[in-house]
Formats: sequence, structure tokens, C-alpha cells
Amino acid sequence: MPEIFPIPDLRIFSYGTTIAGGLLLWFIEGLIPWLSKEKHRTLHAKLNLSIAGINLLILLPSGILMAFMLDWSRNVWPGIGMLALHPFAKAIVIILLIDLWMYVWHRLNHEVAFLWRFHSVHHSDPALDVTTSWRFHYMEILISELLRLPLFMLMGAGIEHLLLYSLLMTPVIEFHHSNISIPPALDRLARLIIPSPIMHRLHHSTIRSEHDSNYGSMLSLWDRLFGSFLIRENLDSLCLGLDHESDTKKQQLFALLLRPFRP
Ligand SMILES: [Zn+2]
Ligand SMILES: [Zn+2]
Repeated sequence: MPEIFPIPDLRIFSYGTTIAGGLLLWFIEGLIPWLSKEKHRTLHAKLNLSIAGINLLILLPSGILMAFMLDWSRNVWPGIGMLALHPFAKAIVIILLIDLWMYVWHRLNHEVAFLWRFHSVHHSDPALDVTTSWRFHYMEILISELLRLPLFMLMGAGIEHLLLYSLLMTPVIEFHHSNISIPPALDRLARLIIPSPIMHRLHHSTIRSEHDSNYGSMLSLWDRLFGSFLIRENLDSLCLGLDHESDTKKQQLFALLLRPFRP
């Protein structure tokens, strides 16, 4: 059972922050874009939101199952709960562990060819804006959900920890995908703690050595710690997406859904 965080409040905050953050960043992107050549914003958003809509069909039932399984498993195996920690300290440890897992999972998606098939749908976006943060192939979401459930059970995480993590991490993910012109000094400051927009723009470079870097979700710490941190201040020559993937035929909903299954 929740110890300090009321779950209904967290759920509302978490979903509310995702939607409000997304709308706010979308609005700011229109005012001060980093790349102003993105002409078809609405069409681009429509495609990415359609992909995200399919993912909701997996995420909604899996969220209910996850809440049930985590509640049950903590009575059998307390995980971090075995340590005599204050609930806040326990929440911080679990959130750090979840973010570390997100780093490992993202890195695996780049290093394991089978997983890259699905993750490359995220990278095939020839533009980058807040809607890219929701563009993931449904198989990537499904495999991620299947792998993280036993890990969270092992940690002794509760659904309130997952909601709290999502509340903190989602605005960061939305921010570092956003097409907002950020002063370099502000980006430098941000990347002391979080993966900044410049870091994540490099992660969406067509150059493999650049897109195989900066895997962090909420904290930039893991990239610094595990040697995958990459930065270059001048992004004038940066090409986004994947080579030969930007033509309109390939940037269609069904083409993207079928993309990982092509030989
Ligand atoms: Zn990636
Ligand atoms: Zn990304």
C-alpha cells in the first residue's frame, strides 16, 4: 500500500503534467523554434500522436496490471523495503534505480539489433519536436513493459514510485525533444542535471557515432558515469533522423508500424 504518496493525486498530477507540458512546449515551439524549416507541424504531430494513441492501448491495461502485481509482490518480497529507510529516502533510491534501468534499456535498444528494429522508428523522425517524445513503436513499449515488471518487483517498487518517476521524467523527455531555441548557457546549465535539448538533438543525429550516445532519460549522470556523454555546441551541420527514411511514403503510419518487420 502507498506509504506517503496518495496514488489518485499522483495519477492526476502525472497525466496532467504530461498533457500541460506537451501543450506548453508546443506553443513555445511555435514562438521561438530552434529549426524554423519545419513547415508541416500539424501533419507531423498528427502522425506522432497516432503512433502514441496505439501505445495507449498497451499502456492503459499494463498500468492496471502493474499496479496489481506490484502491490501483491511487495507483500511477498519487500526489495528495498528490507532496508530501514525513511519512505522519502526509499522513494529516491527507487527513482534512481528506475532511471538507471531506463538508461540501460535505451542503450540496449541501440546495441541489440533486434531491439533497434523497433527503436529506430523513434529515430526515423526527420524532424524533432515535443511530439517525437511520444513516437515509439508499440513493440518497443510492449517489450519494455514485460521486462520492467519483474525488475520493479525485485526493487520493491510500488505504483506510487512509478507515477512519481513518470511525473518527474516526462517533462524532461518532452523538453529535450522540443524544437525550442535554447540559449547555449541555459543548455549547459540544464545538462548538469538532465539530458538537455542539445544532448538529445545529437542523439537524433543521422551519424551513428552521435546517435549512439546520450541515452539518459531523466538524469545526465548515467551518460557521464558510463562514458556515453557526447556534446558539440555547434549543431549547424546536424542532420536529424535516419538516412533514406525521410521521404513521405516512409513517414506514414502503416509504413512505420510495419517498418521493423521488413527484412
Ligand atoms: Zn535512442
Ligand atoms: Zn529521442
